[in-house]
Amino acid sequence: MKKIGITTTVPIEVLLAAGYQPVDLNNVFISDPNPERLASIAERAGFPLNCCSWIKGIYGVCMESGIDTVLCVTTGDCSNTIMLAEVLALKGLEVIPFAYPDQPEPKRMQHTLEALVERLGTTVEAANKVKDELKPCRQLAYELDQLTWRDGLVSGWENHYWLVSTSDFNQDHHKYFKQLKELLTDCLKRSPYPKDMLKIAYIGVPSVYGRDLYRYLERDGARAVFNEIQHQFAMPELGNSLAEQYSNYTYPYSIYQRLKDITTELGRRQVDGVIHYVQAFCHRGIGDIIFRDALKLPLLTLEGNNDFFLSQHVKTRIEAFLDMLRQSKRTPKYAKQAVAGSAYNNP
Ligand code: SF4
Repeated sequence: MKKIGITTTVPIEVLLAAGYQPVDLNNVFISDPNPERLASIAERAGFPLNCCSWIKGIYGVCMESGIDTVLCVTTGDCSNTIMLAEVLALKGLEVIPFAYPDQPEPKRMQHTLEALVERLGTTVEAANKVKDELKPCRQLAYELDQLTWRDGLVSGWENHYWLVSTSDFNQDHHKYFKQLKELLTDCLKRSPYPKDMLKIAYIGVPSVYGRDLYRYLERDGARAVFNEIQHQFAMPELGNSLAEQYSNYTYPYSIYQRLKDITTELGRRQVDGVIHYVQAFCHRGIGDIIFRDALKLPLLTLEGNNDFFLSQHVKTRIEAFLDMLRQSKRTPKYAKQAVAGSAYNNP
């Protein structure tokens, strides 16, 4: 199948129905042994230093991988992608724009899908058939998520990795299914994580820290039981059609859509504290104001840039946050202060 790059989660069912193999350029970038090198390709080409690392990384991957067609999401993800698309076109790549509707309504989504199938030469019916074909993979991803927060058998990193990979199913959904099935069989033989570990929710775009962050949390007696956007990438609410599925997907729409999902999951998963990751120079960082206002749990905001590991500074902030959470659990009065006071709220 001909490869097509994607800049975020898109209706891959349409791409597969049209005979393309989607490749999530973010995943290629961040799983590279040397992501700094890919970002520096963009900087040498003239991308500003104060441009988000993900955008620079995507550009680097496009220049290196030989991909000649990219589906760029122009509404519902990142305004930087609009200019990235222009530069990719300048470099001779075929750029196909895709815009999520401004409201999560199945009718509007249906029109969007119709425009995309027309552009790619397939039909919505064929794409809906692919939806059914992908259902077993999505169900396994759902099971993995349940085994993470409900049964304590899956690590926060494994949860992140398998859910974030649903954007393109690691470029082979048959292989994805087989490998995840094997992992889940193994997980059922594990002993659960200790019940007294702190439960953390990770919200915001996937971080540049990768496995480091999850490992560090576990080393310090905490584990991520919710990876918000990764969980959304896996499409937890499939609906009866693609139009419904991609209207239930919260990421491209208002932050208040995301908040509904986040607050439901924080309660269901009995989370102790929230880490909100923001990427340097990303407009989504402004949403931190809204999360701090709306979420009633202690919240630590971490901002990453082009440091693809946890610096000592970030580690110290995480340690202080976890200490504060432990103290809050022991002393409910302190917990109230921690939620209310910004000094406690964001060590
Ligand atoms: S982190 Fe923000 S600025 Fe960077 S690609 Fe994602 S949405 Fe765009």
